[in-house]
Amino acid sequence: MIPSRLASSAARRLSQWRPSVSSTGGMRCLSLSPQALDTSVSSDVIIDRYVASRVVAEESPRLPNDSYERNALYEAEEERSMGGVTASVRQNWTRDEIAEIFHQPFYELMYKASTVHRMYWDPSEVQQCTLLSIKTGGCSEDCSYCSQSTRHKTFVKPTPTMKVQEVLEAAQRAKEAGSTRFCMGAAWRELGNKKNAFGHILEMVRGVNGMGLEVCCTLGMLNAEQAKQLKEAGLSAYNHNLDTSPEHYPKVISTRSYEDRLNTIANVRDAGISVCCGGILGLGEEEKDRVGLLHVLATLPEHPESVPINALVAVEGTPLGDSEDISRVDAFAMARMIATARIVMPRTMVRLSAGRLSFSDAEQYLMFQAGANSIFNGDKLLTTANPEFDQDQALFRKFGFQGKPAHKGPRVAPAEEQGKVAITKVQGTNNVEQQYA
Ligand code: SF4
Repeated sequence: MIPSRLASSAARRLSQWRPSVSSTGGMRCLSLSPQALDTSVSSDVIIDRYVASRVVAEESPRLPNDSYERNALYEAEEERSMGGVTASVRQNWTRDEIAEIFHQPFYELMYKASTVHRMYWDPSEVQQCTLLSIKTGGCSEDCSYCSQSTRHKTFVKPTPTMKVQEVLEAAQRAKEAGSTRFCMGAAWRELGNKKNAFGHILEMVRGVNGMGLEVCCTLGMLNAEQAKQLKEAGLSAYNHNLDTSPEHYPKVISTRSYEDRLNTIANVRDAGISVCCGGILGLGEEEKDRVGLLHVLATLPEHPESVPINALVAVEGTPLGDSEDISRVDAFAMARMIATARIVMPRTMVRLSAGRLSFSDAEQYLMFQAGANSIFNGDKLLTTANPEFDQDQALFRKFGFQGKPAHKGPRVAPAEEQGKVAITKVQGTNNVEQQYA
């Protein structure tokens, strides 16, 4: 199912990596070069209000923002362990292995995911993103959950593409509210040959990037040339979800194939843009489909840098919104999915996405404990309701979270810095096993 050029793309990128892992021969087996770690926080860095409230001079070192450079630091690393939990970044997962993780008793799964999260991330750092619909409704696709398809009679009225200035103003508001990544979504099957609209989108990308925000787009299917132009304009990431397992997918969407989606992801990867790719719970799928989706994501030649996990927001007039067979996704199902994603893709940012409004603060906390480290803020997620900015600020204060600055790599995990993580290296690359104290 996975196009071979995805594999060749990864091989090409891998060959361009310059591993900077070296042995210190001492307590640490993984040394991060001073050039690789960003310990500076200059005054012109975009810092949201939560980070700004911290003592910046004491901020922990950061990993490189570029995911290829970041991954290269760990090329010789085999696995990590802490508190009896072992994890590694690997692409050879079997479906059965992922199913076994997914079906563990909840208390065990949560402990493991939370420990893996602490081995690779600073659990207090949670990125805030804003998603704006720059072109709403009128989409020719038949995604059975979507309010924007012309095939469903919903409350959504098609609107033309927003003007560049309007989008930049929205990005400015998002930045002021603490967001450090701005995503622009258009209800299209594909970018196709929409030359004028694409020109405007490139302007939007340049403008938002110029404001110091990370920029993401979700515009449907892309070809290689379009991906290249978006990259040149300063696009940080491209979102294109697989939604569900390959087996369940045809029951949800008939107008484009799973293969089409994988091809777009390959084009994005080839252009050197970060891949954001996840799914939706509540599409009438079974647990085996949730495992199936995670299996596809975790066996891509490179894990997506970002995996959004959504809970269906049922919209009246859509086939899934009107179906009596679809029940609401509960917090435990979300936490189980997030926790499994965290374990099988330890270095991926897992984004708690649509559906948050239906979860209490305590339920959302469960999802952060499971390993989520990003949310979407703002009162709307494309066309569906989302918690207000103020609500999320209160949530961050309550949980003690800080936002992640834009264009900065993640902080080195405090557990790693404190020497609590045992790191084993690939045989032959260095001392086979060294541990932190
Ligand atoms: S999910 Fe995207 S592609 Fe599918 S109908 Fe909605 S806007 Fe169109």
